[in-house]
Order: sequence, then C-alpha cells, then structure tokens
Amino acid sequence: MPIISDAIKYSRLALGLRGFLSGTITLEESKQVIADRLHDREKNFLSLVQKGIYQNPKSPFLKLLKLAGCEYGDIEPLVNKGGVEAALKKLLADGVYLSWEEFKGRKEVVRGDQHFSFSQRDFDNPYLAVYYQKQSSGSRSAGTRTTFDLNHQLAMTYYCLPILAVHDALDVPIAAWKPILPAASGIVLALNQWKAGKPLDRWFSPVDEKQVQSSLTHRLAMRYIIYGSRLWGAKLPKPEYAGLREAIKVAQWIADAKKQFGGCFLIATVSPAVKLCQAAIENGLDIKGARMIVSGEPLTPAKRQQMEAAGVLVTTKYIISDIGRVGCGCPQAGATDDIHVFSDSMALIQHRRKVANTDSSVDAFLFTPLLPTSTRILLNAESDDYGVIETRSCDCLFGQMGFNTHIHGIRSFAKLTGIGMNIVGTDFVRFLEEVLPSKYGGVAADYQLLEEEDSRGQTHLSLVISPEVGEVDEGEVIAYMLAELRRIPHPGKLTAGIWEQAKMLQVKRVHPISNMGKVATLHLMKK
Ligand SMILES: [Zn+2]
Repeated sequence: MPIISDAIKYSRLALGLRGFLSGTITLEESKQVIADRLHDREKNFLSLVQKGIYQNPKSPFLKLLKLAGCEYGDIEPLVNKGGVEAALKKLLADGVYLSWEEFKGRKEVVRGDQHFSFSQRDFDNPYLAVYYQKQSSGSRSAGTRTTFDLNHQLAMTYYCLPILAVHDALDVPIAAWKPILPAASGIVLALNQWKAGKPLDRWFSPVDEKQVQSSLTHRLAMRYIIYGSRLWGAKLPKPEYAGLREAIKVAQWIADAKKQFGGCFLIATVSPAVKLCQAAIENGLDIKGARMIVSGEPLTPAKRQQMEAAGVLVTTKYIISDIGRVGCGCPQAGATDDIHVFSDSMALIQHRRKVANTDSSVDAFLFTPLLPTSTRILLNAESDDYGVIETRSCDCLFGQMGFNTHIHGIRSFAKLTGIGMNIVGTDFVRFLEEVLPSKYGGVAADYQLLEEEDSRGQTHLSLVISPEVGEVDEGEVIAYMLAELRRIPHPGKLTAGIWEQAKMLQVKRVHPISNMGKVATLHLMKK
C-alpha cells in the first residue's frame, strides 16, 4: 500500500525534520567536525567496509571481494600500511570496482567466469532511516533513486559555512536557482542552509511542476517539507518559478541585493547562470562583484569568461547525485573548474577505460564515500566522469582545513550535459540508431547527437541528420525526441522541460562527424 507506507515515511520525516531543524551550527563547529572526520578517515573507511559490506549480505561488493579472495582481515593491513587510496588501488587491481554501466544496472557485472547483476537498492546504506525515497521506473534501466536522509543531510551541512567563508559570503543574502523535485538539490539546499544559520533568501526554480510533469508524491513531498518545517520554526522559502527566459528576474534580485547589502551569493546550475549574466549585460543591470557557485555541468573556459564579462566571481562545486558531494572550488583556483576534494567524506582514485559508442579512452574517476551516513555503500564506483587529479596546497580556508587533493577538467563520458541537466547517452543511442531510421529512413550512421559550445559559452545540442535521409519535418522530429526523452527515467522529464524552454535542440542537415570513417552516435565536440 504505497499511500500508507508514504504516510509512515512522512510522519517519520516530520519527526526527523523537527530534530534536524532545532538549533543551528557554527563555522567553528563545522571546522571541528571536518577536522575530526579527516583524523578518523581510515577508521571510518574500515568501519564502513566491515559493517556495510562484510556484515551486509546484500552488498554487491561482498560478492566482488569474495571473488577476489579478499577478507576483511586483508584490507585492514593495506589501509594501515598505505592509507585508504592505496588499499582502493589494490582492490581495483583485484576486480573490486564497478563501472558506471554496472553501477547503474545497465550492464551485467562479469569478473572471470562469474556473472552478477545488482539493483540500485543493493547499494543502500542499511544503517540509514529512509524518510523519503522515490524510484523512477524505467523499462531499460534501473532508474535513479532520490534518497533523502536527514542524518546524511546533517553530515553534509558542515560544508555550508566553510563554503560561504571561502567565498567571503558569510554576511550577504543567499539565493538558489535550482529545480524543484524530482531534482533533490533545491530542497536539500534550502534545508541545509537553514541548519547552517544562513537560510536562503529566495529560491528560484528554472522549471515549474507542469514542465517536469511532477508526480503527486513529489508535489506533496515539496509542500510537506516546506510547510512542515514552518511548524518547527524554519521559514524555508517557497520556490518561485523563474524559467530560463526569465533569467532577468534572478539578475534583478542580485542587483537589488547588491544595492541594499553590498553583495550576494547565488547557487545555480551552469548554463542558466551564463544566461543570467548575459541578461544582466543586455539590460544594463549592475551585478558586478556578485558571487556565484555553479554545478550540474562542466564550467568551461568560455562559460566562465561569459560570466566574468558581467563582473561575476564564479566557482564551481561538484556533486554526484548517486554518490555524494565530491568537493568545491575556491576563488584562488588555478584551472577554470578546479575543486578541492572533500577528502574527509570521499576517497577518489582513477583508472583508464574505453567509452562506449565512441572511439576514445578516458581516466575515469572511481569514488568511495567514507562517512557512516553515506547514502550508498560503494567501493571504487565509477560515476561517468573523468578528469585530472592533483595534490597541492592552497591559501584558502579549504587548504587550511587540509583539503589538498584537487581535481579539474571534469567531463562526463556518457552524458550530454547541456543546460544543467544530464541525460544519459546510452538511453538515447537506441532511439538514434533504431527508432529514427525506422521512422524517417536511412541507417544508424545517418543520425548523430552533437553537443557543442559556442564562443559565448552557450551549449547547443543538434540532431544531425544526413542529407541522404529524405525530407524530414524538423519541428516534428524535435517534438518526437522530447517525447522520447520524457520516457527516460529521471532526469528525462526534467531535462525535456528545460530543453524545451531553452529551445536548445536543433536539427542540422549535414553529414554526421566521423572519425577514421567511424561515426559515433553521440559526438561531444572537444572544448
Ligand atoms: Zn583553495
């Protein structure tokens, strides 16, 4: 009975919210908690492996470890001798990792002559109370689950004030331009900022409930959290719709805050933030000196330049919804998208892998969350990102706190990332290779999805259709593509909602780009 189980979850959520919202934390407490977590890093990792994997018969990693002939007693000395990352590298060499396709249930796990398949649920941390969880159903994949646990949220809240301090934004108003549920980022931000004693002044959402075809559960959960929190004295802002064409509304808030308080801080997704800066320039709004932190898609040099043209100080943060918070940039950053890895809660190594549907190989990241409150228990799990890892000191507060591992050049190898929404390439491959040719003619190699960035930092997506395919009604193909996108598990609907308003999809009647005579179905132009 989903309604009854929802009611139980909601009443647990109400009780949990009351505890979560009582009292706020300080910057000093935050620094102390993070220092303790860094100190206990190896202990936390071993405890998570012992309780979350060896004492959790459902854990997929238990099977992989057994297959590698690895007992708990083998891991402890590895960690004691060389640290967490050295142990993870040894485990990777022994086959203890999950590729992104395996982690997402898109591919069977094959190690030697053994075959496994796992469900997303098997990765859940069995020690967390799940207050609110929604699994989108997908016919071709495991879907994505939005897990919402308040103990996990509290653990993450300790990053809020250091992030504001690094950006010199402890005394200015804060706003978010983040979507409503099913994306969890907006509501999580509203709660975490409240807990940190720096609540959001405004919450703008780039989509409304209609555009994302929000389910009843999501609509209820949003209202429940916002109005329920008010019962416990937390005045969370109600999301206000500001679509991409209303970027000026958010820019106006920045200009007003600047006039009244001398500055402000905006947390947003990358492409909308770029649009906002353009809107400010075109409308002669003064947003110079405003600070922004952006995420959700790569912050490329062109996008950063576009934002800096409006006088905005921008950095990036890096969060992976199925894995956790990876880190945050600082104003002293070297590379455009440089971030300090939050190594108190996340371990990170790399390995070389081939990318499906393309002819390239990349150094993919493998993540291992370390805190007892991690929503998923993972050992060397790939997201679909790759990039560069380096160790170096930095003068900023993050550096002083001991966050010396940096990553930059972060790109997705399997997703199209336009306008702050990720859509998984492999879901689209069948559509491009089979559905389109059977409907409009031609063969698989006549169709290609192309992501490129123009000189103004805007991302464009084109459906390339070879001129050899006969006449095609371009509007109809795009409508058909958006409809197909909506059928893809989360964030399909959300992405379609955004792409539709931004009119970011276009049809190009040219020959698909080929490399050595081979046409990759998805082609991401090198930045
Ligand atoms: Zn720094």
